[in-house]
Parts: sequence; structure tokens; C-alpha cells
Amino acid sequence: MNLILMGLPGAGKGTQAEKINETYHIPHISTGDMFRLAIKEGTELGKKAKEFMDQGELVPDDVTIGIVKERLSKDDCKNGFLLDGFPRTIAQAEALQSLLDELGTSIDYCLRVDVPEENLVERLTGRRICPTCGTTYHVNYNPPQQEGICDHDGSKLIQREDDQAETVKNRLEVNMKQAKPLLDFYDEKGYLVTINGDQEIDQVFKDIQSAIEK
Ligand code: ADP
Ligand code: ADP
Repeated sequence: MNLILMGLPGAGKGTQAEKINETYHIPHISTGDMFRLAIKEGTELGKKAKEFMDQGELVPDDVTIGIVKERLSKDDCKNGFLLDGFPRTIAQAEALQSLLDELGTSIDYCLRVDVPEENLVERLTGRRICPTCGTTYHVNYNPPQQEGICDHDGSKLIQREDDQAETVKNRLEVNMKQAKPLLDFYDEKGYLVTINGDQEIDQVFKDIQSAIEK
């Protein structure tokens, strides 16, 4: 199954991706995570991406498309994959389409997780992540067993730099503008399914399962 997850920052893409990955065993491919890892490791890719990410801008298409192509060509994507944070531009969507054509496959669903904008600020400012395994928590809605500590590996949880209250609003606005043409692109092709993301985490996942197991 080849899936794309869409939704504004904080909508719950990463959270649902973890569940989809556990249940369907398809790799979760997040371009944001790939860039953050590259920055942490200090690679050439990381240096390039950081310049743009620090400004809240998109990393250029050629760089982004390059890393996704490389990733989707790996063996573990043969039985499916879950894209999160990609595509973000029409050029990326078209490049993805050509790549999947070449690989003899196609998208099954583009799942749009929909949450009212007014709830997203609270979700983002309360988000905490494990720097080791990437698990996402929320201080109120999805807290770890022990405050500030990852359930899986005991690492100290961190807050993403771009999840501070001052930057969140701007990120939401920029994202909304960027997302519109892509949602239209997948809607026209008949792949778009809207999921109500303003429910308990497990209920959102149940709705995703009903949509993709149809
Ligand atoms: P956000 O929730 O803020 O969108 P992401 O983790 O998806 O966070 O992405 C963080 C940053 O990484 C983006 O602001 C952008 O600079 C870069 N990025 C991620 N995915 C893409 C993409 N598909 N195209 C261009 N830049 C991207
Ligand atoms: P995205 O990947 O779309 O930016 P995340 O999955 O990181 O979003 O979720 C953003 C924050 O909201 C996290 O702190 C997460 O624990 C929390 N969250 C995710 N889904 C829900 C939900 N259905 N209800 C309440 N909080 C949620």
C-alpha cells in the first residue's frame, strides 16, 4: 500500500504514521525527519537543508526530490510506503508520479488529516519528541509514563526548535497556502480522503483503517 499523509503541522501525521507503520509494516518516510537527521549528523545534505529550514523556507525541489527518489528505490519500499511531508510542491508531486510510473506502481490514497486551525497551536507547543527514536508525545494529550522521558529508550524528551509559540502561527499560515494546490492535485486524481483528526488518537487511526481497507 502506497500512502501519502497530508495535514497542517500538528494535525497528527507523525503520530498516525507510527501506528500505520506498526500495523501495516510499511516504512514511514518523513522528509522533515530526514533533513533533521542530516543536520544532526552534519552531512552535506544537512548543511544545505539547514539554510532553508532556519528561514522557515522549503528546501529546494531538486534536493528534496533527490533524497525521496533514493529512499523509495530501496527494497523495503517494495511492499508499500507512507510519505509524510512530501510532496509539498506540484513539482514534487509530478516527480513522484514519474518515479512511481518507472517503478511500476502508484499511490493508493492521499490521507488528509483535518484539524481546526485553533487547536493546532496548542498541539504544537505541547509536542515533545524523543531525540533517539523519534517517538512523538504531547504534554497533555499523549504524555509519556514518566514526565519528560521516552517510554521506549529512557532518553530525555526535547522540544523542536520550530515548535515555540512565536514561530508556530507563521508556519501554519505558510503551510496552508502551500497545501492547497496539492490537495487539489490529489483530489482531481481521486486519491484524496479526508480524515477527521480532531478526535482521540485511537479513533483517528480507526478512521484511517476504515478508509484504506475499503
Ligand atoms: P512542519 O511540520 O513544520 O512542516 P516538517 O518536519 O514536515 O515540519 O518539515 C520541517 C522543514 O523541513 C520544513 O519547514 C522545510 O524547510 C523542510 N521540508 C520538509 N519536507 C519538505 C519538502 N517536501 N520540500 C521542501 N522542504 C521540506
Ligand atoms: P504532525 O506530524 O502532523 O506535525 P504530530 O503527530 O507530531 O503532528 O502531533 C502534534 C502533537 O499533537 C503531538 O504532541 C501529538 O502527541 C499530539 N497529537 C497527535 N494526535 C492527536 C490527537 N488526535 N489528539 C490530541 N493530540 C494529538
